[in-house]
Parts: sequence; C-alpha cells; structure tokens
Amino acid sequence: MKTVSSLLDAEWHERYKRISKLNIRSSIYDVTNRCNLRCKGCFFFSSGEDKVAAEETDIRKWEAFIDREKERGVNLAILIGGEPTLCMDRVEAFYKRLPSFCATNGLIKLDRDRFPDLMVGISLWGDEEDEKLLRGKDAFAISSKNYAGDPNAYYLYTITPRQLGKTDRVIRKIRDAGLKVHMQLLSNDEGVDGFSWQPDELAAIRDEMDDALARYPDTVISSRYYHEIITTGRMLDRTFGWRECPSVTEPLDTRDPKPRRLIHFIRWASDLKTMHRCCTSETRDCSTCKDGAAHMSWVMVNKRVHIRTAKELQNWIEVYEMFAKLYQFIPW
Ligand code: SF4
Ligand code: SF4
Repeated sequence: MKTVSSLLDAEWHERYKRISKLNIRSSIYDVTNRCNLRCKGCFFFSSGEDKVAAEETDIRKWEAFIDREKERGVNLAILIGGEPTLCMDRVEAFYKRLPSFCATNGLIKLDRDRFPDLMVGISLWGDEEDEKLLRGKDAFAISSKNYAGDPNAYYLYTITPRQLGKTDRVIRKIRDAGLKVHMQLLSNDEGVDGFSWQPDELAAIRDEMDDALARYPDTVISSRYYHEIITTGRMLDRTFGWRECPSVTEPLDTRDPKPRRLIHFIRWASDLKTMHRCCTSETRDCSTCKDGAAHMSWVMVNKRVHIRTAKELQNWIEVYEMFAKLYQFIPW
C-alpha cells in the first residue's frame, strides 16, 4: 500500500509534516452589505446577497457572535462583504479575537498601528483598461500607493479573458510595488460581453500563469497544479461542481452522498443569523464556477486520492502550502 512516508523523500516529508499540523477551520463573514465600488461581475451584488439580511450595527453583538464562532472551533475568519474597511470597528472585533484575513479593494488603507499584522488581500481585476471598464476606476493606482511594500498584503488578481497576453505587465507592476500576488479567474456572473472563458483561452491562460510563477517566484504565490485545476476544473479523474464542492455552508448542505468538505464551514451574512449557500455567489451555476479558494479547498480536503505517486502527493502539498501562506499559517 502507498503511504505518505513511502512516497516522499526527507525534504518533502518535512514540508508535509509542517502543514499536516495546521488543522485549518475557516468560515467567511460578510462584514457589511455596502461597498465603495460596484464592479460588474461582483458575485455579492449580482446574486442579491447584499439584500438578504439587514446589517447588524451593534458592535457588542458582533463581539459576542465572534466569541461564539471561536467556541465553534473557527481558527480562520475570512472577512469579505461588501467592503470590510467601511466598518473598521467590526474588522477590529475579529482581529482581536481570531486569526483573521481581510479582503478589500484597497481604496481605504487599514491603519497599520491598529492592525499591525492583519493579512490583507487586495482585489485586482486586470490592467487599467479592464479595471476602468469593470470597476469604474483604476483601483490599482490607489491601492498600490496605500499598501506599497506592506509585508502582510497581497493582490488577489482576478484574471479575465481580456488579460491574455497582459498578465506579465500587471505582475511586474505588483512586484515593483513590493507586493505579492495570487491569481484566480473571473466567473463573469453578470455575463459581461467578452468576459466568459472559452476552452482555448483557458489553455492559454494556464500557460501564462505557469510562466508567471517560473519568472517571478518571489512575487507569485501559486502552484502549477493549482493552475491546472482552476483552468480545467479537473482533479485526477473528477470534475469540479456542485457534487464535489467543499465550500458549501455545512448546515445547508443537503447533498447525498456528501463529498469531502470543509469541516464546520459557514458563510455568514452581516445580520449574523442568515447563512449563504457557499463561499461565493448564492445564484451562480456551479458548472461555471472558477472560485479560486473553492478549487484550492477541493484539493486540500482530498489528500487521500493524491497518495498515489510522489508527484501527485507533492502537488497536493504545494496547494496546501499556497493556501497556508495566503492566510498566514506559514510564512511566505
Ligand atoms: S470591490 Fe469587491 S465587494 Fe465591492 S463591488 Fe467590487 S467585487 Fe464587489
Ligand atoms: S458556486 Fe462555486 S463555490 Fe458555490 S457551491 Fe457552486 S461550485 Fe461551490
């Protein structure tokens, strides 16, 4: 029988041991229903998730809720929205109680005296032209000034089909701002013309992502296996989608049989009572889903099927390490 020890040499075994201790239990929180942008294709607004629950405004209720989440075993709070930085007191309530990660468009700078080491993931939707078209402004011009050289911030670069041939320049801009980058693909939830992926474009962007990782290993936080998974939607002999997705809110998960999934994962709305279906759009057709975190988690919860060859197990380790770096469980 193949085992982890029989497949890995000493160096890989050390890497495996480092991540196998982590036991990550994440959940996601809509900090607010408001945003200072309205991007075309934003899953939150396009699915009406901003309307399903009225925002809780009493900070003491947030604090008590977060304490309960901690008791529930959550050890990674992923803060999204809306734009979390519109509600710094809520961000602070999480930061003081739980290891936290804040997704932001970067237009408002987090005060590093108040949040010295809070990991910040800054959304980026392409080059200047794409950002103006999809987000109404060149958000990078502002966010890169706010966070230049920040060791606890990185860009979450959502690549669109129009970015083909342009990613190298974008990644160099990020490197020159002294920041790191992680890549994912647009799901085009609002059907913007020209922004839905075609098979040949997915193959081409996979090559571009591989090249970026090879060229800028100190800037790009990624792995070739992740690029394969996200562009093909395939993991070994399986296809990503509703039946396989690990990032479904546990109490709402009625699937039978249940796939391997994130333990105790919940995505909470900002009333602190309502739950959303999954880590992303409530209304997205799962067969079109390109969500990066859901694909990463899909690999991570399926360790056993990768204990087949050394290469497959190493691929699994690299994806796990990537996730652990992005959420500060291990250093860059
Ligand atoms: S910045 Fe984020 S939350 Fe705000 S509209 Fe854009 S994608 Fe949506
Ligand atoms: S939309 Fe994506 S993340 Fe949500 S349930 Fe479907 S596959 Fe999973």
